[in-house]
Amino acid sequence: MMEEAPPDIKRRRISAADGSLQDVSCLSDLPSGILAHAASFLAAPSRALFAVALDENPAALPNERSSAIVGSQWDILDFGDIEKELAVKLSDEHIEKVLTCIDAVNNVKRLKLTNCVNITGAGLEPLRRSLIIEQIDLSLVGDHQNYYLHYGRPWPPISCAHVLPILDSIIEREGCALMHLQFPFVWRERASGCSQFHAFMLRYNQMRGNRGEVVCLECNSRLPAGQNQWINFGISSLHGRLHYGTQNHTCYDCFKHYCYSCENVGELIRMLACCEICKRDYCTDCSKMHVCRCCSHNSCNDCYKHECHKCNEKICLNCVEGHEDCYQCEECDRLFCSECSDPGVTDFSRNCGVCHDISCDDCRFRRFQLGQHECAECIKTIVPLVADEYKRLRQENEQLKLELKSKS
Ligand SMILES: [Zn+2]
Ligand SMILES: [Zn+2]
Ligand SMILES: [Zn+2]
Ligand SMILES: [Zn+2]
Ligand SMILES: [Zn+2]
Ligand SMILES: [Zn+2]
Ligand SMILES: [Zn+2]
Ligand SMILES: [Zn+2]
Repeated sequence: MMEEAPPDIKRRRISAADGSLQDVSCLSDLPSGILAHAASFLAAPSRALFAVALDENPAALPNERSSAIVGSQWDILDFGDIEKELAVKLSDEHIEKVLTCIDAVNNVKRLKLTNCVNITGAGLEPLRRSLIIEQIDLSLVGDHQNYYLHYGRPWPPISCAHVLPILDSIIEREGCALMHLQFPFVWRERASGCSQFHAFMLRYNQMRGNRGEVVCLECNSRLPAGQNQWINFGISSLHGRLHYGTQNHTCYDCFKHYCYSCENVGELIRMLACCEICKRDYCTDCSKMHVCRCCSHNSCNDCYKHECHKCNEKICLNCVEGHEDCYQCEECDRLFCSECSDPGVTDFSRNCGVCHDISCDDCRFRRFQLGQHECAECIKTIVPLVADEYKRLRQENEQLKLELKSKS
């Protein structure tokens, strides 16, 4: 019996399965048992990619060998389980073969297309009319990652024209099991009442409405509460536009339903809250939320990547990027919240009106000491630091004098 491969070896093997058909074609002569054993070391999506690579004819999938390799545990298919470098290269053809190979329409309950930024969504075809799929995350963004992709332009090609007909084939079936859809920011970005996407959300909400009453697990009130819908499609308010196309009242992980008023007794945190970074709702059991020092909005603990250099309070990415009530020194990259502003700073436009320097006071002072900073306007902001330094030098001087005196 072989031992579990250590993680770094595993990773190398996953990379080797990187669609390189030539490399594995000679393997296809090996008995299924050996291949299945080798595949057991791979992350789940890689296992399927491996099986796919052995059969050049997609019509031959699934077959006895591919079934032996992929196994039957496919509740969750998350491309976040494989290396990002591989996931970003996957094509619709890859996705389609994988879904076919694992008989996804009858097996997969949760599908997450994490990092699959190279697909249109046409590869989701094998999921048509699935009665067991509960969650499809099309956001392309992994757990606790910022909701918009940092890939820059062009935007990922995932398209409504390819995906919505497939989703429609799922939601129009009696007994549809869908609980949660996470849409890509490319679709949510422009809130518009006349898009294909908008029309789909109306159909989805109607389907959910027909499914029978759902209540908050805590207070028993009927959901969706107030003006809310299962999927937000409000375009009139700012809040609506910010949350356009996001799911309401449903924990992303456990699918439990809560209203947004119920609080966890004792801790005074909401049973369910929406994270402003990953734009997913989580219940208190699945992800603890934290209020941002600067904007007072909720985000998952794990979604915070920044904190104030002085008080260590967490600051959300939206605030950091928007310079909202905080600033980041462009020289030393340290971040400061408004309450921990450097002495003499009253606003956060660090931009000096005269020399356009936007660094923090420590950086200005360091340059001043080296004789590299001579802007009088900037020096005003570091007067307290200069005064402190002067005081320190004087004390040092006094101390030396005393020592000299005691020696003589
Ligand atoms: Zn409630
Ligand atoms: Zn939960
Ligand atoms: Zn929100
Ligand atoms: Zn914030
Ligand atoms: Zn989050
Ligand atoms: Zn602070
Ligand atoms: Zn600095
Ligand atoms: Zn200046």
